[in-house]
Amino acid sequence: MTTQNIKTADQMYFTKEHDLVRKSVRDFVKKEIAPNLDEWEETGETPLHALFKKMGDLGFLGIRYDPKYGGQGLDYWYELVFLEELAHIQGLGLPVAIAVQTHMATPAIYEFGSEYLKETYLVPAIAGDMVTSIAVTEPGAGSDVSALATTAKKDGDHYVINGSKTYITNGTQADYLTLLARTSDDPGYHSFSLFVVPTNLPGFQVSKKLDKLGMRSSDTAELFFDDVRIPKENLIGREGEGFIYQMQQFQHERFSAIPGGYIVAKDIIDLTLDYIKGRVVFGKPLIKRELLQHRLAQWLTEIECLKSLTYHIVQMKMAGLECTREISMGKLKAAKVLQGVAADCIQMFGGMGFMNEALITRFYRDARIISVGGGADEVMCQVIARLEGF
Ligand SMILES: Cc1cc2nc3c(=O)[nH]c(=O)nc-3n(C[C@H](O)[C@H](O)[C@H](O)COP(=O)(O)OP(=O)(O)OC[C@H]3O[C@@H](n4cnc5c(N)ncnc54)[C@H](O)[C@@H]3O)c2cc1C
Repeated sequence: MTTQNIKTADQMYFTKEHDLVRKSVRDFVKKEIAPNLDEWEETGETPLHALFKKMGDLGFLGIRYDPKYGGQGLDYWYELVFLEELAHIQGLGLPVAIAVQTHMATPAIYEFGSEYLKETYLVPAIAGDMVTSIAVTEPGAGSDVSALATTAKKDGDHYVINGSKTYITNGTQADYLTLLARTSDDPGYHSFSLFVVPTNLPGFQVSKKLDKLGMRSSDTAELFFDDVRIPKENLIGREGEGFIYQMQQFQHERFSAIPGGYIVAKDIIDLTLDYIKGRVVFGKPLIKRELLQHRLAQWLTEIECLKSLTYHIVQMKMAGLECTREISMGKLKAAKVLQGVAADCIQMFGGMGFMNEALITRFYRDARIISVGGGADEVMCQVIARLEGF
């Protein structure tokens, strides 16, 4: 691309082919998600099988995956386009539910799984024929993943799973879970293994559907495993390497959260601008108050910084560089920007910002998730500090 052809900053990064993918995701969100979203928020559940099938048919669930498995074989810029457009869904429930399928439960199968696992579980996930969940967190182990107590004991040609998992997104609807369990009592990180666990096996139970502050269109569950026998072929990669695989899988999950930071924050600002342009207080529209203008200008600056960091991360990924440090910083910053914008903007709505009929309340509630899900802010700081050698 020559510099003469560049008319907007986005054209420095995206080509016409990227724009086509962007348009098809945007059209899908507009046509298939937006008209149903309020109802799904209300009922606390989205029919994921029907939705994912439509997304699978359009190739959305395997943007980066090899065409051999039904993926599109596209690069990280296309992945970013996909995530940016998903973030325009008005609320974080569905973008997270979809990212579980594309960025949380399937990357380890793709990167470390056998051909059998890819054919049996990755292919249907990409096609939208199966719904997936990632099952790591337990009642006694969240930030400290190594504290998990669910066991997978070898018994002949099987592993037998016992224990429980909690806060599992898509958990009431999943056909299989990508599950981290303890395969040894030894201390250290080589005592864990990652498995594909089908949910139609005896001994598996959705013990509770959880009621949440936000992300209400996404279902979240507590799961229970009582002697669930899975074939030994359902082990992902090598026994004892699951913790390492999961730490790598977390990088996809954490990256998927970052575009939501600047896209949703900007959407919130646009929503707020619409309101404060029309809201007259002390004789003039609120938008004319310099205090509010500066507040929004400062957040727009933060949004631009976060977007630049994200594009920098994509460039690093394209160059094949390790970017755990930058992804951790990006997720941390995304949480701060999104919550800061949501808090300042909801204030500009006055009493209306306390009414559930106002969309801003959904954004305000949902914004909390980035500071906790996929690793809390403090865990991101811990990773950054470790990589800095503190
Ligand atoms: C809506 C939702 C969906 C989720 N979906 C999934 C899912 O699909 N699959 C899954 O496996 N998990 C899921 N989770 C779990 C999520 O990853 C965990 O909640 C998260 O990792 C934090 O673990 P915890 O809740 O046990 O908090 P804890 O580990 O108990 O930590 C509590 C708080 O302590 C602070 N803290 C933690 N470590 C430190 C530290 N080192 N220094 C200082 N402060 C610290 C943090 O502020 C943290 O929020 C989901 C959570 C939510 C809320």
